[in-house]
This record gives sequence, structure tokens and C-alpha cells, in this order.
Amino acid sequence: MISLTEARTLIWERISTLPPHSLMLEEAYGHVLREDVYALEDIPAFDRSAMDGYALIAEDDSQRLRVKGEIQPGAVPSFKIERGECARIFTGAPLPEGAMQVLKQEDAYVQEGYVTRSKESSIAHIRYRGEDARQGDLLLSAGTHLEQGELALLAGLGITMPMVSPLIRIAHFVTGNEIVAPSQTLLPGQIRDSNSTLVAAFARQHQGKIVRQERVSDDLEMLQNRVRSCEGEYDLLLISGGASVGDYDFGKRVLIALGFDIHFEKVNLRPGKPLIFATRGQQTAFVLPGNPVSHFVTMQVEVRMAMERLAGAEASWPEFKAKLAAPFTHGASTRESFWPARITAEGGEIHVRALRWKSSGDGTGMAGANALLHLHEAASAPAAGELVLVLLIGSL
Ligand code: AMP
Ligand code: MG
Repeated sequence: MISLTEARTLIWERISTLPPHSLMLEEAYGHVLREDVYALEDIPAFDRSAMDGYALIAEDDSQRLRVKGEIQPGAVPSFKIERGECARIFTGAPLPEGAMQVLKQEDAYVQEGYVTRSKESSIAHIRYRGEDARQGDLLLSAGTHLEQGELALLAGLGITMPMVSPLIRIAHFVTGNEIVAPSQTLLPGQIRDSNSTLVAAFARQHQGKIVRQERVSDDLEMLQNRVRSCEGEYDLLLISGGASVGDYDFGKRVLIALGFDIHFEKVNLRPGKPLIFATRGQQTAFVLPGNPVSHFVTMQVEVRMAMERLAGAEASWPEFKAKLAAPFTHGASTRESFWPARITAEGGEIHVRALRWKSSGDGTGMAGANALLHLHEAASAPAAGELVLVLLIGSL
């Protein structure tokens, strides 16, 4: 059995990043940028006014300035400013030749085509060419997630087809004779499938695309055939259930039969001890313990990293300390544990509350979880008010 840290190292080392492709800016939200992006020109590209006002030459001590013309944003100034003159100018408009300062309109008194200053100021009120970035400056690095700010920057640079990671194609097979569709009325002994929905939501959150999702009974041959039927269609194969060593836990056998190399099959983690990780060329596979909470945790602490590696992103581990708002019972465990929890911002601090979790089969506590409370091996239960480690998995 290996530690979570060892498991994560293996995941990082054994997975190779998928080749990038270019995508229209409008479709690139959430994708990982796969090229370094440099400024193709100075930003701003020309000296421009930062205010509505009057452009004049620097240190013009004339009492009155003749308004020589007007320059709107987008216009190309056709005249030069000399001593005793100014130009009516608006925010964002290019400065006319000779102008070194903008007198803001609040400080100007205008009468019959002449401006007099109601207040002296040495502030230029100009955004100079290249003041934000110089041509050739690195603005975004490969590996950056494209969100609102990054996309807006690319648009401003005129990069309309950035190189990004493709969506990660996921084939998901849920195993178990007892598992039925969520819409079904349960017969004795049956359980509704919650993992398919969990995996679909996870895929949405992490730039995955479900290409196949099926429920299969505990039958080695059938599972093998179903996985074979989508051979080249996935980057990531997830098999839910059957990760353990029971007579009907076929996950490992199926992967071996399909030619996958198994890198580990047990992690010293609670929940989520039986977890199989394997690769075959560019393809990655996990067999996840079927319990919904085990699923939830292993997806966040292990599968998520695999997705990041496939996408060419940095490995994220958004962990920090938060104040435990209420005590909770944590049966001492020799295993590193991740407990579903909810963090909230209260009085300028981050507070955390453990959610209900009776056993790894108790899925009721997953609802509302935006964090995992992280307890190291053999840790005793922390007391209320103590600072504890939490791993962010959602938003506040
Ligand atoms: P397994 O990992 O196959 O031994 O399953 C462990 C437990 O999780 C069993 O109680 C299963 O019934 C339950 N389980 C397995 N798959 C699912 C699923 N898709 N949805 C809900 N519960 C499941
Ligand atoms: Mg099972």
C-alpha cells in the first residue's frame, strides 16, 4: 500500500499530456492554454488620453489656450499642438503631436474657443505607449486556465484561435448487479446509481467530456466487452466499483486483459483505499471504489490530478487552514483521511464544518461539500476553534 503523495507522484509521472489544438476564443472558456502568449505590439499601442479634457504642450504657461480642434477616440489627429494651443480630447483618444499633458475638463474653464485653467496640475493624465506591456513581453504562460480575465486579454491581443487542451474524453462504466438507474423503483437489494451523476458533474467541472457512460453487471466478460467496444474513443477510462479484492471485483482483471499497465492498486487513504491506477499508451484508467463518498474523495485527490496532467495544467492542491467551527467525531484512523466539509466566510475568517459522514457508504454528507477536511495519519480529532487543513473542492 502506498501513500497519497506516492500515488500522486506516480499519476503525474505515468500520464502524458494530450496534444493541443486550436479553438475559437468563444469556446475556450475553462480550457488550459498550451502556448506562451507574448505581446505582439506595445500595449497601449499609442499614447492616449486618460481623461476627458484638453491636450496641451507641457509647461505651457500661457494664460489662455486656443482650442485648435477636437479628437475623439478612434480618430487620427490631423494637427499639431503648439504653445498657446490645446485640443479638445476624450478618454482613449490618441494625443496630437506636441501634446504632453491633458488638462482634465473639471480643471478647465472654456469660453469662446479659449481655455483657462481653474487649477494647476502637473499630472500628465496620459496612458503612454507600452506602459502596460512592451512588444515581446510574456503575458500568459502555457498551463494557465482560461477564464474571464485571460480570455479578455487574448481578445485584446487579437488572438482569436488560442492553442488549448482538448476536452478530456471520459468513458465511464458503473459495475454492480445491485445498481439500477436513478429513475427506477427499487426492488429488494437494489441501489440507485449515484456515481454516474457524480462523474458527469465532475467531468463538467474539470473540462471532461463523457463519451460513454454505462451500467454493467458484475460479469468479467461483459465488462471487458463493453470497454472494448469504445477502445479508441477515450483518454480516461473510469470503472466504478470492483476495485477491491472480492470475488466479483473485476476491475483489475479487465484492465490487465485489455493490456493496461497497473501502477498501483491500494492507497493508504480513508475513504478510498482500493483504487487502481493504470495506463496504456496515451490512455489512463482508474478503478474507483463504488461507495459514493470514496468516489467523491478519490476523484478530487487523485483523478483530478490525472485530468490536470492530461490537460497540461499545473497540479493544483488548494489547501489552507480554516477554523473548525464545531467538533466532530473522527474515529482515529491510521490512514490519511479526507472528510466532506463545508467552508464559509464568517467575520473575515474561513470557518469549516465537517459534514455528516457515518461510513464511506453514507452519501448524505456529500451534498453541500465545498471542501475536504484533511487529517493526517493517526491524527486525533481536532477540537472546535482549532485551525485545521482543508482542501478546497468547490466555491465558497
Ligand atoms: P464496490 O466498490 O463495488 O464493492 O461497491 C461498494 C459499495 O458501493 C457497495 O455497497 C455498492 O452497492 C455501492 N455502490 C457501487 N456503485 C455504486 C453506484 N454507482 N451508486 C451508488 N452506490 C454504489
Ligand atoms: Mg460492486
